[in-house]
Amino acid sequence: LIDRGQAEHSVTTTCAYCGVGCSFRAEMQGEELVRMVPNMDGHANHGHSCVKGRFAIGYATHPDRITTPMIRGSIHEPWKVVSWEEAIAYTASEFRRIQAKYGRFAIGGITSSRCTNEETYLVQKLVRAGFGNNNVDTCARVCHSPTGYGLKQTLGESAGTQDFDSVRESDVVMVVGANPTDGHPVFGSQMKRRLREGAKLIVVDPRRIDLVRTPHVQADFHLKLRPGTNVAMLTALAHVVATENLIDEAFVAARCEADAFAKWRAFVSREEHSPEATEAITGVPADLVRGAARLYATGGNGAIYYGLGVTEHSQGSTAVMGIANLAMATGNVGRRGVGVNPLRGQNNVQGSCDMGSFPHELPGYRHVSDGTVRALFEAEWGVTLHDEPGLRIPNMFEAALDGEFKGLYIEGEDIGQSDPNTQHVTAALSAMECVVVQDLFLNETAKFAHVFLPGSSFMEKDGTFTNAERRISRVRRIMAPKAGYADWEITQLIANAMGYPMHYAHPEEIMAEIARLTPTFTGVSYAKLDAEGSLQWPCNAQAPHGTPTMHVDAFVRGKGKFMLTQYVPTREKVTPKYPLLLTTGRILSQYNVGAQTRRTPNVMWHDEDRIELHPQDAEDRGIAEGDWVGVQSRAGETVLRARITDRVQPGVVYTTFHFPESGANVITTENSDWATNCPEYKVTAVQCTRVSQP
Ligand code: SF4
Repeated sequence: LIDRGQAEHSVTTTCAYCGVGCSFRAEMQGEELVRMVPNMDGHANHGHSCVKGRFAIGYATHPDRITTPMIRGSIHEPWKVVSWEEAIAYTASEFRRIQAKYGRFAIGGITSSRCTNEETYLVQKLVRAGFGNNNVDTCARVCHSPTGYGLKQTLGESAGTQDFDSVRESDVVMVVGANPTDGHPVFGSQMKRRLREGAKLIVVDPRRIDLVRTPHVQADFHLKLRPGTNVAMLTALAHVVATENLIDEAFVAARCEADAFAKWRAFVSREEHSPEATEAITGVPADLVRGAARLYATGGNGAIYYGLGVTEHSQGSTAVMGIANLAMATGNVGRRGVGVNPLRGQNNVQGSCDMGSFPHELPGYRHVSDGTVRALFEAEWGVTLHDEPGLRIPNMFEAALDGEFKGLYIEGEDIGQSDPNTQHVTAALSAMECVVVQDLFLNETAKFAHVFLPGSSFMEKDGTFTNAERRISRVRRIMAPKAGYADWEITQLIANAMGYPMHYAHPEEIMAEIARLTPTFTGVSYAKLDAEGSLQWPCNAQAPHGTPTMHVDAFVRGKGKFMLTQYVPTREKVTPKYPLLLTTGRILSQYNVGAQTRRTPNVMWHDEDRIELHPQDAEDRGIAEGDWVGVQSRAGETVLRARITDRVQPGVVYTTFHFPESGANVITTENSDWATNCPEYKVTAVQCTRVSQP
């Protein structure tokens, strides 16, 4: 499925994998895909692609695709193939029955960053207007929800500040808890190009990612901190900036709240936050921390890129605010080459958050308690909206186990594999009376479903994705939906069956509604996207062609606000029983839970997740390369094969989560970010022992 000869025509669309959002030309013979060619005019990728995107076409035609709706009375019964009419009617009647019996708050919906903006918008509209509550959440809950919170508090907008091309003007690049060459390969290459040209590099990561040392790039500083100590590290960096007179006083005086800054300066200047005092916490020599802080503050344009190694912690939101503090203190916001840039894991994390799929926010990050905003949506949607936040995903699980939450509509998200503490998730799903899974494959979550609605791949529908740089790009239908309906149509069918009318003829109409209701999208339309190729929001009367760099003259919130970042150790402590800290990440050729990449012919195929151990830890346990290793945590136990490497530091082990067989999330715990409940995937105390083959 790579090359079948000459194309008859081509369709421009957007990669459905990572947050770079590369533009591709799908070359076609009729409805047959010949090949995917990275688009030279793509604003995010400029003709480049990675191994995932180029081969992204395989899973869409894989024989595992389910193409007929199915229902069953209980999860112990076999599936029964039914018509669309029967499946939709059953879903609606079950949800109505549950609400009649347990109340209107007993059901909810989960959408995914793999959905288009229009699909996500419809799911939250179904929940708010059709179900009558705010029990809607997105898989961003488990990845970048702290970004939304932390950047809103400090800068005033829940999004990154720059376009990708901005890195061409960076003099110092700081990468915190991200692995761009594996997780965001096309942008990782762009970053490497700038580093080869001479930009300096600071890496803050417990593990030696590729960027630290390659034939052409060498990090100037690798702050190899202990997992779970980001906040102590960021505050120590701030201490150096504040106490060595490295603050951009003019920028701070003109652009930031004076009182909050004064409090922050006094706080970070305390001796307890010095690199010397925090060395025992982070494990990083103080002179390295001082050197890195001086380089970032004085080396010219300083840009920070961060990832899930920052957000997926019990202090994820605090760390995001610590990063924003550093950027404001050094004047590294509001022009090209600088900024605070979250690298979003999935293609539409930014969009799923923008579209109001959080239980406390309507589209455009406006709180559900705001009566003026609610009135706007009520007038458009013809309903009265609930004014209190609904349940987050972990709260849905707790409510299910308490017998109060009974029905769930899940579109495009495999919570049975991707959420932490799998045993807890599956117990909650088992306690529900109607779980509806809308997906391409019978995934782990579908094992607990009562209704399976076959979804559509990105090649079978129209819509838009919004990448990590706030860039909205078109997704265009290349072939007919295999199961007959695009995902947005299925949501619409459910809404109508439940008595809430939806009559969109095309996703373009959904985007028009989004633009009517969302100030940062008022200038967005399919016609303009077609004409300009892509648009970075805010796109409105003030910025009709979009906004590559945010906060140029003033922060979105007016004045930037420094926030105090007190380090609080994670609850996840090492003990003699669990003496190692496990952290997790991704590899280049796989994508998240692997549902798509494992079903795609791929020249870089990896067939398993492995556990990386430092040679000393392996020797202490009699573990050799390739041995099977039992990994035990307080939550559970799994078995993985060993990879012995000094990429990880002594006392730290590392694995990926791409294969359901390895069950990486069987061992992660329910600890979560204090502000957003984003799970603490990155810190789990474990023991490793050599075992015989499972
Ligand atoms: Fe681009 Fe990411 Fe797709 Fe690779 S996976 S082609 S970097 S969008």
